[in-house]
Amino acid sequence: MPSTNAYAEIWLDGEKVDQLSSNAEVVEPIYGKTYLPRKFKIGLTIPPTNDVDIFAQDMGFIAIVEDGRLTGFNLSIGGGMGATHGDDTTYARLGSVIGFVELKDVIAAAEAVITLQRDHGNRQERRYARLKYTVDTLGAEWFKEQIEARAGVTLHPVKAWYFERNGDQYGWIQGENGNWHLGLRINSGRLIDRPDSPLLTGLREIAKIHTGHFRLTCNQNLIVADVASADKKKIDALVEQYGLDSYKNQSGIRRNTIACVALPTCALAMAESERYAPVILPKLDALLDKHGLLEQEIVFRISGCPNGCSRPYLGEIALVGRAPGRYDLRLGADFKGERLNVVYQQNIDETEILNHLDGLFQRYAAERHEAEYFGDYLLRAQIIAEPTQKRIPLVLETV
Ligand code: SF4
Repeated sequence: MPSTNAYAEIWLDGEKVDQLSSNAEVVEPIYGKTYLPRKFKIGLTIPPTNDVDIFAQDMGFIAIVEDGRLTGFNLSIGGGMGATHGDDTTYARLGSVIGFVELKDVIAAAEAVITLQRDHGNRQERRYARLKYTVDTLGAEWFKEQIEARAGVTLHPVKAWYFERNGDQYGWIQGENGNWHLGLRINSGRLIDRPDSPLLTGLREIAKIHTGHFRLTCNQNLIVADVASADKKKIDALVEQYGLDSYKNQSGIRRNTIACVALPTCALAMAESERYAPVILPKLDALLDKHGLLEQEIVFRISGCPNGCSRPYLGEIALVGRAPGRYDLRLGADFKGERLNVVYQQNIDETEILNHLDGLFQRYAAERHEAEYFGDYLLRAQIIAEPTQKRIPLVLETV
């Protein structure tokens, strides 16, 4: 928990809202006086799902479970999505997996990563202020040594893990305690009532009877969590009544789409994103249907600018806004969030986007191997070049 008063320093009518704020200066042991150079994102994931896009986080923990027991985490540092068009010194980066941390050492190791970024992160140039640039400047090996020295812990060789997928799973999933969790697809995270789609009212009705809790996912979706077996039917009835079960009828690409807000909300947007998703998705569905691929799961991301809030550099297909109606078409990330995509076409409009994808879907349908994902096919068929940065574990203890 932070010791800082920063969160309490809220002013209303000229007076500080929280009494804490008027206390004498508090020494914050981790942030110090300077805080961090920029935002800092932390993710945790339990294989085989990578639903938090762990390698897009500044610091990521991949749970390692051995003989049914959580023994610790593989530690990933330096992931991040943001970039600037035309500036090759800024780039998306996958986190580097630098070692396995025993459970007892996790907090100490995490604090060391944060304080290293506090002390060595770039404070002169805001665009280089994220941890990913510090890691590339000083080296992942340097970080590993420094973490061990600062925290007094050992980073062991990385332990093998396996991800099946990123993105969310929909429908009912049973948890370890026997309770159930219902994953619902919420397009672009907009939980609002529309004339033909009263989603917000539906969720309110569920909230009246639900004794568990609600979780927002990293993919703009929602989980009705901790439902007893006896309550599933009641919730199912409401989900159906209010049209919250759209995931059942959505194409594979829709189930795996994320769009950032962009226009009109975001002042940095160069092109539409959230409002463009419902425009282009029916056209993509039509193309996929034409080639017998409507059910194929494909990770699709749209961002209104290269800052990458929808994590577009991890999309098997991604559109990154350049100007109104114009996007970079990026292709070839994998389905697990372990490989970045590459630019396939720059600054093209919708007609060109659809023409390119039509041809690629046709080839994919004809040439793919069994269970081969679209991004993997594009790489194997050498339609795209190998991305220049791949996540390469230092040393795998077991394979
Ligand atoms: S990616 Fe989207 S939400 Fe993020 S800054 Fe760009 S336009 Fe705004």
